[in-house]
Amino acid sequence: DLVANQIAAGEVVERPASVVKELLENSLDAGATRIRVEVEAGGRKLIRIADNGHGMVADDALLAFERHATSKLRTSDDLLSIATLGFRGEALPSIASVSRLTLETRAAEEDAGTIVEIAGGNILRVEPAGLPIGTTITIRDLFYNTPARRKFLRSEQTELSHIAALVTHYALANPTRHFELHSSTQALLTAPTAATTSDRLFQIFGRETSSHMIPAAAEIDFTRAGLPEPPPWKREAHYEPPAPGFLRLSGFISKPELQKLNRNSIYVFVNGRLIRDRLILHALTEAYRNIIPPTSYPVVLLFLEMPPQEVDVNVHPAKTEVRFRQSAFVHDFVRDTVRTALMHARP
Ligand code: ADP
Ligand code: MG
Repeated sequence: DLVANQIAAGEVVERPASVVKELLENSLDAGATRIRVEVEAGGRKLIRIADNGHGMVADDALLAFERHATSKLRTSDDLLSIATLGFRGEALPSIASVSRLTLETRAAEEDAGTIVEIAGGNILRVEPAGLPIGTTITIRDLFYNTPARRKFLRSEQTELSHIAALVTHYALANPTRHFELHSSTQALLTAPTAATTSDRLFQIFGRETSSHMIPAAAEIDFTRAGLPEPPPWKREAHYEPPAPGFLRLSGFISKPELQKLNRNSIYVFVNGRLIRDRLILHALTEAYRNIIPPTSYPVVLLFLEMPPQEVDVNVHPAKTEVRFRQSAFVHDFVRDTVRTALMHARP
C-alpha cells in the first residue's frame, strides 16, 4: 500500500542520487551493456535511465511495482548468497510512490513492449507499445507529493555532483559496459566499452592521474588462511567455519606522490557492490601510514571478491554498509596487499 511504500521510500530514496543508484543496479542486474543516464535540475526535475538489458515481459512490468516483488530471490536461503545487486524488491515501488514514473520496457521474447505510468504510487496507464529490447525508466518531479522530503534536497549542483560520483563509481566497476551521463544538454561522462579496468581508469581520470596509479592484487584461500580458532562463546553457539573459496583483491592504488584532500577518490567494491566501509578505510589508512601525511588520502580503486556467505550486504536498504564475517582477516589482507604494492613501487 501507498503508506508502506512511502515509508520504505524514506529509507531507500534519500535524494536523486539514490534513485540513480537503484535504477543503475537494476540495469546492471538485467545484463545491460549500454546504460544512459539523463538528468535535469540535479535530478529534481527529471531522471531517466535507458538500458539495453533483458527487459520485462508485460506481466512482470506491473509486478515490479508490487512491494517485495523481486525476481531475484526465490527462497530465503538465497539471501545468504546474493549474486545480484538488488534483492529487496523495494526500490521501484518506493520510487514510484514519491514521484511521477514512466516505465518503458520490452523483453526479447515478446513482440511488443509495455508502458506503465504511475504517479504517487497510483497506476495511471498500462499499454502495449512498440519498443526496442531493454528498459527505460523516467522519474519526474521527485518528492512532488512529499514536500517535507523535497525541502531536504540540496542545491542542484550538489545533487548533480552526487549523481556524477555514483555513475563514475559504476563505470569504474564495469569497464566493459558503455556508460553515459547527461545533464540537460551537457555530456558529463562518456565511457565507451573499454577492454580493461586500466583503460577505464584512463578514460575517467585522464592521463595525469592514471599515470600515478599502480596495480595491487592478491588472493588467498579462506580455508587455508590460518584463521584463529573461534572464541569459546562462539564455539558453543553455531560457529560456522569460513566458506570454501577465495578472498581476492585487485585494482589500482596511487603512488605516494598523488595525494587528495578528501576521500572522494577512494572507490571500493565488494563482489561488484559499491561500499563505503570504515574497516576498509582504516586498512587503507594503515597501508599508507608514514607514506603520505595523515591529512591526505590516496586515489584507490579496489575490488574485493569473496564467497557471498562471507559478507552480509543486508545491513541497510541503502546497502553501502557491509559486514564481513572474518572482519579482522579481511582488514589485514587489504592492508598488507596495498602495502606490498606500495613497497614494490618505491624507487
Ligand atoms: P530488486 O532489484 O530488489 O529485485 P526493484 O524494485 O529494484 O527490486 O525491481 C523490481 C523488479 O523489477 C526486479 O526484480 C526486476 O525483475 C525488475 N526490473 C527492474 N528494473 C529492471 C531493468 N532495468 N531491466 C529489467 N528488469 C528490471
Ligand atoms: Mg533493484
